[in-house]
Amino acid sequence: MSRTSVALLGATGSIGTQTLEVLRREPARFGLVSIAAGGGNVDRIIEIAREFGVKRIGVPTQEVRASVLSQLPNVEVVVGDEGLSELARSADTIVNAVVGFAGLPVTLAALEAGKRLALANKESLIAAAPLVERVRNTAGAELLPIDSEHCAIHQALAGASNAGNYREVRRLILTASGGPFRGWTREDLDGVTKAQALAHPTWAMGPKITIDSSTLMNKGLEVLEASALFGIAANRIDVVVHPQSIVHSMVEYIDGSVIAQLSKPDMRLPIAYCLGLPERLDHAWGALDFKTAFSLDFSPPDLENFPALKLAYEVAEVGGAAPAWLSAANEVAVAAFLDDRITWRQISEVVSKTLDFYEPCTLESLSELLDADKRAREVATANLPK
Ligand code: NAD
Ligand code: MG
Repeated sequence: MSRTSVALLGATGSIGTQTLEVLRREPARFGLVSIAAGGGNVDRIIEIAREFGVKRIGVPTQEVRASVLSQLPNVEVVVGDEGLSELARSADTIVNAVVGFAGLPVTLAALEAGKRLALANKESLIAAAPLVERVRNTAGAELLPIDSEHCAIHQALAGASNAGNYREVRRLILTASGGPFRGWTREDLDGVTKAQALAHPTWAMGPKITIDSSTLMNKGLEVLEASALFGIAANRIDVVVHPQSIVHSMVEYIDGSVIAQLSKPDMRLPIAYCLGLPERLDHAWGALDFKTAFSLDFSPPDLENFPALKLAYEVAEVGGAAPAWLSAANEVAVAAFLDDRITWRQISEVVSKTLDFYEPCTLESLSELLDADKRAREVATANLPK
């Protein structure tokens, strides 16, 4: 077995940390050669680089570069988007665990270079779907989803006899935990605090996706992500609330069969799946214990109190740069909420208002996408309540 080289971009975050746990268990199979992170935690970057003997590091600014080099003079340190792109070409398997649109250079460069891309960063795929579609056919390129729902569907689709076409697939069914506010009334939701929104009942994740889960925007983004990944229109992708987070998602076939993937909520399972494919790694991170009784519940989502999910279906219909606008506006709104500038309910309101100003455009080139993202952020910022 030859050793697979891995680049882990977004190494200091929630997915990054769990990817390191998987790599630690399989030192003979995987070698971590490059990492990247935002500027917030230089000590952690140094620690990871020392532990794994990393040779190349990506950082956002020259100041962070100087600070890393002062402690690790023998590594190569690259900077900014160009640095991220360079690292995304630097290994056999690229794990994109960056949060937000900032992960775009990684997604595009890895696929263009014909690498295996293990993708946690859903925002880049959602915003750049038409551009990703073009580069994912590069020889050698593979796009594998770390997002647990999509990883579940990837596994459930293995039963499709005409994989890649999916004529026998009727619909995809994404499960949603419902977040911390499942079942809350309109009045309850008026008083939501940041601490409540940051306390997810079943998953421990980074702050942005945790807030997205509380508004159901995360599930809306996942509908768009599933549509782009599997080439299935959003109107054939349903969402069902499943509070236990055991059934990670399902595929319904034309004969009525529904195939699901079940495990405890543990992101190391989908990470290991993406790293190991076509083999499964021998670590049962999410194994269920059927000797103890447990139940699984399913119910439809509440679109009135959680309008973000509805917005995602709407932008899917519009197409073009509308999903990029939704995702960019949401990033602006979530940052404002985390900064105590807007209320929880205002997150979805800001996104909705921003979409009212959507300027239709196609996404033929990267510059069109960058313009659309910039414009959506300007409009969203202008729509933040004063
Ligand atoms: P996080 O906030 O914990 O970590 C984000 C990482 O990105 C950090 O290492 C940070 O330093 C890095 N980063 C931020 N800006 C950067 C930049 N400009 N250049 C380089 N690195 C940068 O977030 P997370 O929860 O790990 O989520 C990462 C991605 O995975 C998100 O897109 C999220 O939607 C997706 N995801 C996460 C989970 C989960 O369980 N955490 C599950 C499914 C999908
Ligand atoms: Mg998910």
